[in-house]
Amino acid sequence: MDVDLAVIGGGFTGCAAALEAARMGAKVAVIEAHTVGHGGSGRNVGLVNAGVWLLPETVQKQLGPIAAKRLLSAFSTGPEQVFDLIAREEISCEVSRTGTVHLAHAPAAVVELHDRQRQSAQTGRQLEILSAAQTRQITGSQLFHSGLYDPGAGTIQPLAYVRGLARAAQRRGAYIFQHSPVTRFKSGRDGWRLTVRGHQLRADKLLIATNAYHEGFDDPQPPKFVPISYSQFATAPLSADLLQTVLPTLAGCWDTALVMSSFRLDQAGRLILGAIGNLHGACGRIHHDWARRKLAQIFPQLAGQRFQHNWRGTIAMTRDHLPKILSIGHNAYRVFGYSGRGICPGTLFGTALAEALLIDSTAPLPLLPTRSHTEPYARLRGRYYETGATAIHALSPAPWSRPPRSEPK
Ligand SMILES: Cc1cc2nc3c(=O)[nH]c(=O)nc-3n(C[C@H](O)[C@H](O)[C@H](O)COP(=O)(O)OP(=O)(O)OC[C@H]3O[C@@H](n4cnc5c(N)ncnc54)[C@H](O)[C@@H]3O)c2cc1C
Repeated sequence: MDVDLAVIGGGFTGCAAALEAARMGAKVAVIEAHTVGHGGSGRNVGLVNAGVWLLPETVQKQLGPIAAKRLLSAFSTGPEQVFDLIAREEISCEVSRTGTVHLAHAPAAVVELHDRQRQSAQTGRQLEILSAAQTRQITGSQLFHSGLYDPGAGTIQPLAYVRGLARAAQRRGAYIFQHSPVTRFKSGRDGWRLTVRGHQLRADKLLIATNAYHEGFDDPQPPKFVPISYSQFATAPLSADLLQTVLPTLAGCWDTALVMSSFRLDQAGRLILGAIGNLHGACGRIHHDWARRKLAQIFPQLAGQRFQHNWRGTIAMTRDHLPKILSIGHNAYRVFGYSGRGICPGTLFGTALAEALLIDSTAPLPLLPTRSHTEPYARLRGRYYETGATAIHALSPAPWSRPPRSEPK
C-alpha cells in the first residue's frame, strides 16, 4: 500500500494527525499495534486542562521567551480547541464543560495556587481562586483548603474521544489498521517503508506517535522518558441521593500533593479516583487499600463503597516535563513525553504535525523539533517514583484512622 502519510500509534496524537491529514485531502493510514486507545489515551483520567504540566514561568526559563510564547499560546486555549473539535466532528464522549479544580491538599499549597493563577493570567487564561467554603460547594468535599477553578476546562470519556477521533478520520477517508504492530521502518529513495505483520507500506511522510506505549520496534532511537504508573478505581454508579452531595457541579478534580490524586464522575454516576502508583505491581494491594481509605477521606458518605473497575496506565514523563518532537529523517517526526497532560497537547500536536509534514514547514508546530533527546537513568527514576508513591500510600491517609464522619448538609 502507498500513502502520503503513515502514522504509527492510534492514540490522541495519531488519530488527530490522521483526521487533520484527511481533512487536508491527503491519503493517510494509522497503524495501531492493538486497538485504538490501547495506550495512555484510553486509560486517561479525562481532565481536559489547558497548558502543559509546568508553570508558564518555568516553561519560559526552560525554553527561552520566544519558544515558550509559541508553546504557551498554542496551548492556553487547549480545552476550547478540543471541545470545538468534538462538536465539529460530532464525537460522543461524555463531554462535561463544567470546569476543573486544582485542589490545595495542604494550607501551604494555597500559595502555589495563587502563583499558578497569576502566571496563567499572563498566558491569557483567567482562573478563579476558590475559598475553602467555595471549594466545598463545588466538590462536595470538606478536605481541601482552597481550589483553582478553570471554568473553561472540563472532562470527557477519553476512550470514547480517541475512538471518535479515529472514526472521524475514517469518515474523511483515513485508513485505520488495528492489531497491526509495526516491526520495522526505514527510509529510502522512495520515502518510508514500514513492515507491518510481514506486509510493506510505503509512505512519503511518517509520524511516530507511540509515546509511553512504544513496543515491538526494530528502532535505533526509541523515545526516552521516565515511565510513571497511574492507577484508577471506579465505584458502581452512585445513587441519586449520593450524587447530590458528591461533586454536585460535576467538576473534574486533581490535587497539589506530591503523589497526586484525581477524581471525577462519569456520566453513569461512577466516582473515578486515581493516583500515581502501579495497581498491578508487587505493591498493588497497598494502592488498592489506599484508594478505599482515600475515597472515605474525601467523601465520608462513600466509605465502604466497593470499586467495580480498576485499571493502570503509563505516563511518559520527561526530565523537564515538556513534550518532545524529534526530527528523525527526511519528512519524519517522532513525538512523545506529554508528562501526564495529553488530551489537549496530543490533539494539538497531532493536528499540527500532520499539517507541518504535509505542507513541509515547521510553522504550524507549537514546539520546534530537535534531533535527539536523552533521559538519564529513566528506568531507575521510574522505580523511584513508584517506591515513593507506594510509601506514601502505605501511610496516608493513615491506615489506622477511622473514616471522618459525614457532616450534615
Ligand atoms: C493513567 C493516565 C491518566 C492520564 N490522565 C490525563 C488527563 O486526565 N488529562 C490529560 O490531558 N492527560 C492525561 N494523561 C496523559 C495522556 O493520556 C497521554 O499523554 C496521551 O494519551 C498520549 O497520547 P498519544 O496518542 O501520544 O499516545 P498513546 O495514547 O499512548 O498511543 C500510543 C499508541 O501507539 C501504539 N503503538 C506502540 N507501538 C506500536 C507499534 N510498534 N506499532 C503500532 N502501534 C504501536 C500503542 O498501542 C498505543 O495505542 C494520562 C495518562 C495516563 C497514562
